[in-house]
Amino acid sequence: MRNATRRLLLAALALAPAIASAEPPLVPQKTEGKRPPFLDRLKAEVPPLKNPRGTRWPMICWECVSFDPQPPEVYKALLDRGITQHIQLDAKMIPAAQALQKAGCPVIMMQGGGGPWPYDQAPNWAHQFDVGYTPLVSKSWWPSWKACPAVFEGWRVNADRIRDTLRKFKDAGVTVDAVWMDWEGEPSSSGQKNGWENARHCRRCRETLPPPFSATSRSGTATAAGWPRTFSRPTWPPRSATCSPAAP
Ligand SMILES: [Zn+2]
Repeated sequence: MRNATRRLLLAALALAPAIASAEPPLVPQKTEGKRPPFLDRLKAEVPPLKNPRGTRWPMICWECVSFDPQPPEVYKALLDRGITQHIQLDAKMIPAAQALQKAGCPVIMMQGGGGPWPYDQAPNWAHQFDVGYTPLVSKSWWPSWKACPAVFEGWRVNADRIRDTLRKFKDAGVTVDAVWMDWEGEPSSSGQKNGWENARHCRRCRETLPPPFSATSRSGTATAAGWPRTFSRPTWPPRSATCSPAAP
């Protein structure tokens, strides 16, 4: 047995009693029928934290209490369990953000979107298919088979919208502590099987997408293997940066 392996085994044996004596994790149980309100379930099923959260962030959940402003005790019940209510990137939620902030919660924005969005926020965003080509229609739950991935006008529109929204929160005295943008659009959505085929039959994509897309297109092969990664690395970070709260 090699020394490193022996040390690892000894460490595992030393830790075994501690692991064995640890409390079993809480495992979520599926609830049948009509469910009680989230807060009631939370209080019944999730105990408060036993140790201070300190500087660690609370968790956010897809489902939580409400986007409407809540009494401080509701937010405290969440925080006591390491959870907070998030809000969306929407100025309508400024009252909720103010209530969260007043209750001592960080203001965390989280918003999901995908498919052709935000490409479709600007005109002239869709593929310009070759005559006679029948597009492959995505089976994705967020189908995005129509958008030209390299046409970013819709992203610019959305970036301006985000800046405007964040300014409104700032003017209302709200400090936005974090923003999560769960956007699942191009180019990743086209990465599914044969997803790039539509782009390869689009006149504009052939002109705007960088190699190796062009090279692959000329070769007539069935996939654009490696292209999404090559394209997204230099392209996506700058696109994301234009949408960040710190952007000018
Ligand atoms: Zn296109």
